Amino acid sequence: PLVLGIESSCDETGVGIVRGTRLLANEVASSMEEHVRFGGVIPEIAARGHLEAFTPTLRRALDTAGVSLDEVDAIAVTSGPGLAGALMVGLSAAKGLAMAADKPLYGINHLVAHVAVGLLDTAEGQVQSLPPNTGALLVSGGHTEILRVGSLTDDVQLLGSTIDDAAGEAYDKTARLLGLGYPGGPAIDAAAVDGDPKAFRFPRGLTMPKFEGSAENPGKHRHNWSFSGLKTAVARAVEQFEKAGQPVPVADIAASFQEAVVDVLTSKAVRACQEHGITTLLLGGGVAANRRLRQLLGDRCASAGIELIIPPVKLCTDNGAMVAALGAQLVAAGASPSSLGIPADSSLPVERVSV
Ligand code: ATP
Ligand code: MG
Ligand code: FE
Repeated sequence: PLVLGIESSCDETGVGIVRGTRLLANEVASSMEEHVRFGGVIPEIAARGHLEAFTPTLRRALDTAGVSLDEVDAIAVTSGPGLAGALMVGLSAAKGLAMAADKPLYGINHLVAHVAVGLLDTAEGQVQSLPPNTGALLVSGGHTEILRVGSLTDDVQLLGSTIDDAAGEAYDKTARLLGLGYPGGPAIDAAAVDGDPKAFRFPRGLTMPKFEGSAENPGKHRHNWSFSGLKTAVARAVEQFEKAGQPVPVADIAASFQEAVVDVLTSKAVRACQEHGITTLLLGGGVAANRRLRQLLGDRCASAGIELIIPPVKLCTDNGAMVAALGAQLVAAGASPSSLGIPADSSLPVERVSV
């Protein structure tokens, strides 16, 4: 099926077009520049950004794909989770298009769309199928989750998630502490190159036996993460140097912080896969761009005999193609379309693939 996908859950306005698993267009506009001076995404500004960017982004996507709205078989749109006001702009636009062009509408789950993007046949990657028990590690500014995907259309299970900050959020907050600017992920990634990852031993959250238990008798937080203690540890380290009137070793702190995040992310993700019989793991979200994460996850997956799939970065960050990719799976599976009255659901649970 030819499906148009619309994404507006955070700061990216995305419109993508796919035919089955073929990627035809993936146009993305972002209001990130306007959030820089606030050091974080401001919901009202993001919503206004979507309003302004939607029509030109839609036009570019249709142009690039060389299709008209009439030819499209269905319209898919992110209905959650995400920022309520931002979601509402994309949803309203999708409903309007579905009504005007008389097309079925599919309200879909943003997190599951991050996994569905792995099906797309792009110039860079050749992945066209995900085995029926695929794992997904999603790491972005708003999410840190490990999922088990039995079927993209009707069997998705949350294995673990962060109990406080998201991984990207931890990067952003730590970069601010180090005076590295926003967004912090790329800044820390770059600063860490010149640093010693062993200079500081920062905490690996929720790794104590009382939280993790054993494989036979898992603790409540066996597959969960926590990054707020790490942020505090970095703040304390910075403070110590400042109090002593010494220069803050930014590169060493950045490298050690990054090592702590990536170590605990990868060790828990790989173990969750092993304990759930998962032999293929997909990495998604903006933090997937991180070089050390790619390296260590690659090493640990290889040692564990897990096949690792990392889509091109443009498909890992928020985009419309991933929404279209999941929409196409739903259409192909004969799922019933959504009602035109579906609401934005900022906390849509991951088990609900479509609404
Ligand atoms: P959502 O959480 O809804 O998917 P988002 O806009 O918060 O949306 P993305 O746009 O996918 O998430 O990713 C942005 C996040 O990724 C930011 O927190 C940013 O710091 C982080 N990030 C980007 N590049 C890197 C990198 N090289 N290393 C680490 N983190 C990175
Ligand atoms: Mg973003
Ligand atoms: Fe996302």
